[in-house]
Amino acid sequence: FADFAVLNWINRQAALGAPWFFEQTPSALPAPYPIVFNDDVAALLDLDTEAVRHAGYAHVLSGNDLPDACHPVAHRYGGHQFGVWAGQLGDGRAITIGDIRNARGQAYEIQLKGAGKTPFSRFADGRAVLRSVVREYLGSEALAALGIPTTRALAIVGSDAPVYRETVEHAAVMTRIAPSLVRFGSFEILFENRQFDALAPLADHVIGEHFPRIAAIEGANTRYRAWGERVIDLTASLIADWQAVGFCHGVMNTDNMSVLGLTLDYGPYGFMDSFDPHWICNHTDAGGRYAYDQQPHVGLWNLGRFVQAILPLLSDDPDTAVEIGQGLLERYRRSFDAAYMQRMRAKLGLVDTHDDDRDLVDDLLKTMAADGADFTRTFRALGHVSADPAASNAPFVDEFVDRDAAGAWLARWRERLVDTAADDTARAERMRLTNPKYVLRNYLAQAAIDRADEGDYSEIERLHAILRHPFDEQPEHEAYAKLPPDWARGLVLSCSS
Ligand code: AMP
Ligand code: MG
Ligand code: MG
Repeated sequence: FADFAVLNWINRQAALGAPWFFEQTPSALPAPYPIVFNDDVAALLDLDTEAVRHAGYAHVLSGNDLPDACHPVAHRYGGHQFGVWAGQLGDGRAITIGDIRNARGQAYEIQLKGAGKTPFSRFADGRAVLRSVVREYLGSEALAALGIPTTRALAIVGSDAPVYRETVEHAAVMTRIAPSLVRFGSFEILFENRQFDALAPLADHVIGEHFPRIAAIEGANTRYRAWGERVIDLTASLIADWQAVGFCHGVMNTDNMSVLGLTLDYGPYGFMDSFDPHWICNHTDAGGRYAYDQQPHVGLWNLGRFVQAILPLLSDDPDTAVEIGQGLLERYRRSFDAAYMQRMRAKLGLVDTHDDDRDLVDDLLKTMAADGADFTRTFRALGHVSADPAASNAPFVDEFVDRDAAGAWLARWRERLVDTAADDTARAERMRLTNPKYVLRNYLAQAAIDRADEGDYSEIERLHAILRHPFDEQPEHEAYAKLPPDWARGLVLSCSS
């Protein structure tokens, strides 16, 4: 494993140790075999991909044969799940084999998901199934290519070892990386268990490594407050990104919320096909707590739990801390609205700001919802329409049943465009670069999983290759940008993974 061994292992989390990180060796995965390996992510780590592909990665990235320089740990965290404090959760099946620093000075945590039991496994088996790791691999790489902050996927290793879910499935281990996998829940567990002294060292570690400008701020309370502001802004920005591509996370529990504002823990997530603001991608979420149109509110609710957990860092005086904390949370709405409108204006090709832009956006979404127009195709089609009122309304109105309603909205949009005074070609190009043609529709992921279950991994590779360039026209892959087929309508996703 020469190439993994020569990475610049710094293992800062292992050095921090308890009560945040606990030594944990992965459990042997029987007869592991390679499934996919991602050169883009290997490059972030400075891995020599040629050498890794030549030597094989399954023995290392199964966790069976780790380089000596690694120092594997499981992370302790808690979380609010569906609005209820769930107590201690932690890495129950994910083991961070170590942290590295690349030649550009960037630190990454390298984690094996499905690497066996840890002290946090509770009653579960510590394993992941191929189906769920293929979904995480493709989902995280699709978001990354859309420019949305996320954990990244390095590789999947498989095994014929059985794993028992609703049915018997095969085990798999996915390697994911992120600058840090610390969560809101990492701080909540310390607050809820009254381990207040343990808050600062974890915050200092995160700030020191990942927020260098904030680390330079004098005065601990001021520094932590600045960090809190940053976490709020990053979270608002992330959720605005999701809304703008029709992405639903599905399980926005606070243990799945990154303090770096990364999309984290891909379960029953989904990209919307037909637009429905109340869409629920997670079959288990009967009440729709994490529905598409709830995500911005949930962001604030979750930040409330985070800010509460770091109150002891904001001031030594509890009343002052609460006041500061409330002040912090007040910035969320502004921060989210600004981020969201910035994304939506870009999607409509607008370069300047008008007071009634919000209405224009909302009315488009209402028109889309009334018809169940396809989220991705509708915005993409808008980019192909000329601003000239005499020009054709196709292909935009073709995405609607009620073409008159769509046409009426289009007329308003054209009027609005007159003010931007931008030429059509330049606007179309800007819109092309912000309205993707290819997203990871659920049925596409399912097709790749079905093939993978039969030992054919080519569809994972093909889909990944297409989704790496979501904004490009790829005429040979036109089929991947079509409306989902009828069989796809009945697909449901649960938390089982
Ligand atoms: P998730 O729903 O994947 O975000 O997981 C929620 C919690 O359950 C985390 O603490 C996970 O580590 C834990 N967990 C989920 N699946 C397993 C498993 N198969 N074995 C052990 N722990 C698990
Ligand atoms: Mg989780
Ligand atoms: Mg998990």
